[in-house]
Amino acid sequence: MSPPIRVRFAPSPTGLLHIGSAHTALFNWLFARRENGSFLLRIEDTDTARSRQEWIDGILNSLQWMGIHWDEDVVYQSSRLKQHLAWAEALIKQGKAYRCYYPLEEIEEKKKQAISAGNFWRNDRKYAEISSSEAERLEAEGRRSVIRLKIPEGETIFEDRILGKIEVKNETIDDFVIVRSNGTPLYHLAVVVDDMDMNISHVIRGIDHLTNTTKHIQIFQAIGANIPEFAHLPSILGEDKKKLSKRHGAVSVTEYQDAGYLSDTVVNFLSLLGWQTGDDQEYFTRSELLNRFMLDQVHKRDTVFDLQKFEWLNGQHIMALPNEDLWLLLKPFLIKERIIEPQEEIDNKYAYKVVSLLKDRCRTLVIFAEQSRVFFSDNFEYNLKGVIKHWGKDPEKVILRLEWLRDELISLKIFNTDTIESTIRELSNRHSLKLALFIHPCRIALTGQTAGPSLFDLIAVIGKETSISRLNNAIRDIPKLTKGKDI
Ligand code: GLU
Repeated sequence: MSPPIRVRFAPSPTGLLHIGSAHTALFNWLFARRENGSFLLRIEDTDTARSRQEWIDGILNSLQWMGIHWDEDVVYQSSRLKQHLAWAEALIKQGKAYRCYYPLEEIEEKKKQAISAGNFWRNDRKYAEISSSEAERLEAEGRRSVIRLKIPEGETIFEDRILGKIEVKNETIDDFVIVRSNGTPLYHLAVVVDDMDMNISHVIRGIDHLTNTTKHIQIFQAIGANIPEFAHLPSILGEDKKKLSKRHGAVSVTEYQDAGYLSDTVVNFLSLLGWQTGDDQEYFTRSELLNRFMLDQVHKRDTVFDLQKFEWLNGQHIMALPNEDLWLLLKPFLIKERIIEPQEEIDNKYAYKVVSLLKDRCRTLVIFAEQSRVFFSDNFEYNLKGVIKHWGKDPEKVILRLEWLRDELISLKIFNTDTIESTIRELSNRHSLKLALFIHPCRIALTGQTAGPSLFDLIAVIGKETSISRLNNAIRDIPKLTKGKDI
């Protein structure tokens, strides 16, 4: 029977959760859920100079926001120092590792000479066999030592789930350091000991870890532990085909969250980076992903972060949300943009109408909040180009038309989209004027904008009272706003 599937996500808490790391977390999580396995979280916080509690909190929050929940307690690598060092000592005892007393400068010099002669310098193990009295003498002299793993002759071969067979000649791997001269274990040792103790069955991580993997296999073999399966995920590139970095704009999950992307979109979009779905489908709900994702369908080619597709997908996920859920997600953005007050009582029914009217038009919640402004606040500005185009040509006539329109709305008994539409159409017919001559100036009066949802729906949602008072404001302001702006 094969061992239970156990995977882990192992971020170093040195910043916000990067999109690339979120991608790794997601693929591990989808794989674990798909295979009924466990998804574990290990915080690799041994670099005390760079790790910070606020980054740990940020990473945990981002994972939770994405709906990536971990099983079992979080493992903090810093709390496992003893286990790491115990293995280093055990490996020395077994003759698989040794203390190396070479001064760093001497090694650097040897490497330099080897490189200039076109060679690769491997540690000559001068200190691997020294007696304990010789070691004591060196230490008494103040010589410091690191612990190095003895790399055996031969080849390291493994079958990567994504890349296929990987073969590396061991002669290209130096006896690398597993414990520094200050007594702290290196990442390589810590990762392997932790993966072993956490019974990790599959290590799924970015392809930038591929060279680490050959080193890790050496440690697993030296320890005599089961070697997990490995799967290296493709790199994520920006549209310029360079590795995704800050130069490309937002690169953390938090930044996209703040920009109004939905958690479902982030999960959907990241899942497409490297996964060949087998057909053209791009929009996936979370449960579809959990049913369909297969690690063996992940390709090895680099994958490109397509911001336009990300935005489009977000629009699709926004559209698919029930109004009630969408309103709950939108509200904090309205508060943040100071469109509504935190304690303000908003009638839910009204809010759902607004949301329903706009949800097909907004690709992010920030845009959504901006578009909703005129439904929650009278505090908006008139778009200057719109003023010139739709009010500026013949302001007096515009005022007259808006007065007619206002009076029709005042006398409307049943105030809904249909009655509003037929009233405005009749008005334009009666005066033999194009409908557009009413619609555009009226939209500017009611929203300040030149585009938006159907005007008839809009009037119905904002209601009679607000529509009339905004028409009156426009009628009052048109002369001064259009003065000197004739075209
Ligand atoms: N802590 C490493 C990183 O953030 C990942 C280690 C691993 O997955 O083995 O890149």
